[in-house]
Amino acid sequence: MSKHSIMTDCIHSGTIVDPRTNGTVSPIYLATANGYLDAAENIYPRYFNLPNQQALEEKMTALEKGEAAIIFSSGMAAISTTLFSTLHKGDHVVLQIGLYGGTTMFATSVFDKFDIEYTFTTSTEIDDFAKAIRPNTKVIYVESPSNPLLGIVDLAGISKIARRKKILTISDNTFASPINQNPLELGIDVVVHSATKYLGGHSDICAGILVSSQKVVDKARAMARNFGGSLNATTCALLERSLKTLAVRVQQQNLNAQRIAEFLQSHAQTQNVYYPGLSDHTGHDIARQQMSGFGGMVSFELADGLDSRSFQKDLKLIAPSLSLGGVESTICSPRLTSHVEVTAADRAAAGIKDGLLRLSVGIEEPEDLIADLDQVLSKARVVAGWHDA
Ligand SMILES: *Cc1c(COP(=O)(O)O)cnc(C)c1O
Repeated sequence: MSKHSIMTDCIHSGTIVDPRTNGTVSPIYLATANGYLDAAENIYPRYFNLPNQQALEEKMTALEKGEAAIIFSSGMAAISTTLFSTLHKGDHVVLQIGLYGGTTMFATSVFDKFDIEYTFTTSTEIDDFAKAIRPNTKVIYVESPSNPLLGIVDLAGISKIARRKKILTISDNTFASPINQNPLELGIDVVVHSATKYLGGHSDICAGILVSSQKVVDKARAMARNFGGSLNATTCALLERSLKTLAVRVQQQNLNAQRIAEFLQSHAQTQNVYYPGLSDHTGHDIARQQMSGFGGMVSFELADGLDSRSFQKDLKLIAPSLSLGGVESTICSPRLTSHVEVTAADRAAAGIKDGLLRLSVGIEEPEDLIADLDQVLSKARVVAGWHDA
């Protein structure tokens, strides 16, 4: 376990020092053909043992306070490999309602084929997880805060129930980032991330990560070599560079998102603002206990009758765009992006309305972002008033 603070680990942990230069930055090991005759192990990108992969694994292990990690070529590669390495035919999984669309799709379209049973909870309440457990339940899968409704799950509470029954807990920590929350410290067994989001942070990297105990990681690494979702050395180096600024980026995003959530909540042309930092958010008290910051994601709906598509088109600074977690603010309709493949019935069950907007708050000056939102909302007021008259 690292003895440094997370701010320091973001910068220093895992860095490879090249003896030829003593440079401050890890060199990039591009070779896919490496000598093997006198090597302790065969080094190959898809064996997940390149030096640049290991540098990242070391940094992420320190940031998430685990024992070991594996870096993947996408968040879904991390999630699918983790699930397949822990589940067998006939096992049952409890999944939180309202997960990221790709994870929901993975469960609903793949598990059946492998005779893996699953149940989605009906809420984020602990009791609903407990009720869904069966004798053959092997995994509880959670995401807190969840994408897109910022649902909060009591991670320590879930891990307590699961440990009693020897059930493995997996938590998607993408929205929080390790700066705001460390699920492993709350008793969760495995943390997964889409590193495409906050860890990459500049909307130009696709990657994923798993952090856990050495035992879980060894099993997952064996599975990962079969599936092959490894990340190339150049992108590893880019991600390592991104992680150096993770703490400062996320701290600014926490501040900006709180300001914007309060602005949106006070505005007459919006309704149902979802942000765990708002005192009336259903998960606020638990979020305060388990998170050190509430993150940069804010979801909301426009007042009745206002069109979310024209709203996004009229924004000048905030970009209507897929994905999230970058230094630039972006906005999207989950119905058309992250949850486009989830059925309308499943979206309705999760409370994801068609008009929902998901705002990823960047590190711009928050007053500029508020002014951008306000200029469209003010215009919307005129149109709505005209219709009402
Ligand atoms: C984007 C996302 C994923 C999937 O990650 P990819 O890098 O797109 O494969 C998983 N979980 C959450 C919460 C996400 O937002």
